[in-house]
Amino acid sequence: METHLKTIGQRPPADQPIKHLKPHVDPATLLHRQLLDGPFWQRIPAYRNVDEATFLDHTWQAKNSITNPQKLLAAVQDVVPPAFYEDVAEGFHRAPMSIRVSPYLLSLIEWGDPYNDPLRRQFVPVASRLLPDHPKLTLDSLHEQADAPVPGLTHRYPDKALFLTLDTCPVYCRFCTRSYAVGVDTDNVEKVSLKATEDRWDSAFQYISERVELEDIVVSGGDSYQLKARQITLIGNRLLEMPNIRRIRFATKGPAVMPMKLITDTEWVDALTAVVERGRKLHKEVVLHTHFNHPNEITAITKRALDIVFERGIITRNQSVLQRGVNDSVATMQLLVKRLGHCQVHPYYVYVHDLVKGVEDLRTTLQTALDLEKAVRGVTAGFHTPTFVVDAPGGGGKRVAHSFEHYDRDTGISVFAAPSVKPGFFVYFDPVDTLSPEIQQRWKSTAESDRMVEAAITQAKLNQAATARASSIR
Ligand SMILES: *Cc1c(COP(=O)(O)O)cnc(C)c1O
Ligand code: SF4
Repeated sequence: METHLKTIGQRPPADQPIKHLKPHVDPATLLHRQLLDGPFWQRIPAYRNVDEATFLDHTWQAKNSITNPQKLLAAVQDVVPPAFYEDVAEGFHRAPMSIRVSPYLLSLIEWGDPYNDPLRRQFVPVASRLLPDHPKLTLDSLHEQADAPVPGLTHRYPDKALFLTLDTCPVYCRFCTRSYAVGVDTDNVEKVSLKATEDRWDSAFQYISERVELEDIVVSGGDSYQLKARQITLIGNRLLEMPNIRRIRFATKGPAVMPMKLITDTEWVDALTAVVERGRKLHKEVVLHTHFNHPNEITAITKRALDIVFERGIITRNQSVLQRGVNDSVATMQLLVKRLGHCQVHPYYVYVHDLVKGVEDLRTTLQTALDLEKAVRGVTAGFHTPTFVVDAPGGGGKRVAHSFEHYDRDTGISVFAAPSVKPGFFVYFDPVDTLSPEIQQRWKSTAESDRMVEAAITQAKLNQAATARASSIR
């Protein structure tokens, strides 16, 4: 024992190199540390003469965000293939979401190859790539409205609630799960109104204060970026002053689509910091939750912005949505996770894409999530390893992707149970176009579809009964 201790305590002689057990790593392969820098936006014809100070100004970003397809295409006129133009116009005509793209996002899209660009796919619909919706799709698939005692306050889980403070965002995502409310009416969807009115907020605050079991509030939207500094202060203080509330999360996609706001909107960052600091003194946790989906969204500007948040002592966690052709490859998901970690953001969740109208081309199979989870776990810290979840249609809440009671990979039906949330079974559906031609045929008939769902639930019950017999949990 003594000699052993001596050996490991001894330094090797200077002329003897340390023996490495692993092969050396070429720093050039550490892509997560290589962030896009310089005036990358000047590649876009419309921003050729925009200097850095202007581009970093969040008011310039908001004012110049593009809210109709004609303007979008005008901004990138010389660089997009001509056929793309028509395709986008028709894509927007059929979309359930309104359009809003920040100049920052627009500058990160590779317009020379727009069909394959992972950011284009998330924000700009093209008609030729759309697929028919799943036959089992409904507009508010998560039952957020059915579980709302007050408009815009969803109380599904025992100790936490989701507070939709307003219905606008700095950008609009095609895949938004709240397309029933978020954004302005489109050719296809008349929205539920969730305006930022203090009357509605008062009802929400009253409800929250009357529920002793509520401890944790997700302040979302829409998007917390759209809240004015004084509204951050108001909401933060009202919640912090409730003895039952222990945790608040401000949710925003902002850092992923308009990071410069964190650099130049000092008033907003100060307001958030003050709530965080007041919370800390009250021993209550106030954090930022954000929504990056692809490593290309993280640039040197993002790093600067998140460094400020980190210096303020604000914990940031990330929730991604798994999307086909965006982040459904091992390399992309690993890079996203590592790049978030590099910016001190904790990857928290990766959501299997909800059943949302008009974005079947973006959904993946549950199997994709299972495969990615396996590949991601182990590449970095456990606390930087996201949990892959399915937000169970019908209001079962988030379930770990691997925790299905049954998964029929042929019919694409997975069945989940959520014993601490809601009784019954919750069924998720893989996109029909990923299934065999025979099964695709069966999904065309309502009776056949119901039979497939029924069979999957029956099998789930059998599996549950079998595991219950073996389980020691009572
Ligand atoms: C996601 C969500 C929450 C928060 O859930 P966590 O798993 O704690 O992140 C709360 N309420 C609703 C309705 C939600 O969808
Ligand atoms: S930022 Fe969030 S709430 Fe807003 S459109 Fe995108 S996904 Fe929906």
